[in-house]
Amino acid sequence: MSLSFSEVVRILAEGKIPSPRLEARILFEYLELNQFAPAEGDKEAQLRALLNKRLVHAPLDKILGKREFYKNTFAVSKDVLSPRPDTEILVEAAIDLTEKKIPQKILDLGTGSGCILLSILADCPRACGMAVDKSEAALAVAHHNAKALNLFNRITFVHADWFERDFVEHIGSGFDLVVSNPPYIPTADILTLEPEVRQFDPILALDGGKDGFEHYRRIAELTPHLLKQGGHILLEAGIGQASKIGEIFEHEGLHLIEIRPDLSGIERCVILKK
Ligand code: GLN
Repeated sequence: MSLSFSEVVRILAEGKIPSPRLEARILFEYLELNQFAPAEGDKEAQLRALLNKRLVHAPLDKILGKREFYKNTFAVSKDVLSPRPDTEILVEAAIDLTEKKIPQKILDLGTGSGCILLSILADCPRACGMAVDKSEAALAVAHHNAKALNLFNRITFVHADWFERDFVEHIGSGFDLVVSNPPYIPTADILTLEPEVRQFDPILALDGGKDGFEHYRRIAELTPHLLKQGGHILLEAGIGQASKIGEIFEHEGLHLIEIRPDLSGIERCVILKK
């Protein structure tokens, strides 16, 4: 038996996988196969195994264990939210604020794979950062990515939950910049998400509580204690959430500077200043 490129495209399309041709190309490249020659033997078995995982809607990045984000490749696992292109707008905004300044101290709340903080540090050689997560398994992935990108000496990893009372004492204050892509999906909506997200992204990284704003409210309470005077916080927002996030933080005394859209025109990044 053998398995040709066009058969792989057909199998993916019949399995209702979006962009079947692109995904077939990525699978062939991953296995170092040539699109013009069918896969045979061991390679064919490996290809079929990967296809079987994809056909139950495991996302390609989780199957391959890596994902491109901003300018780098990040290791991903079942324990971290897959980095999304939507989040790159937050990274760009953070780099605009950080690039030309004296050494900057950056805090990433809910770091997951580390893709936000590590992308900023990679572009801003004078900055250093702290990556916080409630999940030790996620921190291990961020740790791995920091080593792979040679950023390990500019980052501290902290295992902590921002709902704990002593959170600020635990992690410290005086940050120039806080970045966060917190969980923001209303609990009841999680079931309506596509299977790639609902079944393969960690629930911990998705569940924003009853109305989706539970984590923003807590982070807003903490932010005045974490930031230096004049420091900024950049938050990713879910669809339709940005202006309410602005209000939640203004209520805690921060000033709304800008709401930036992502590449699809969705208000995605909320920028506030202390
Ligand atoms: N962007 C993710 C989604 O909509 C959710 C991530 C989050 O809750 N921060 O699938």
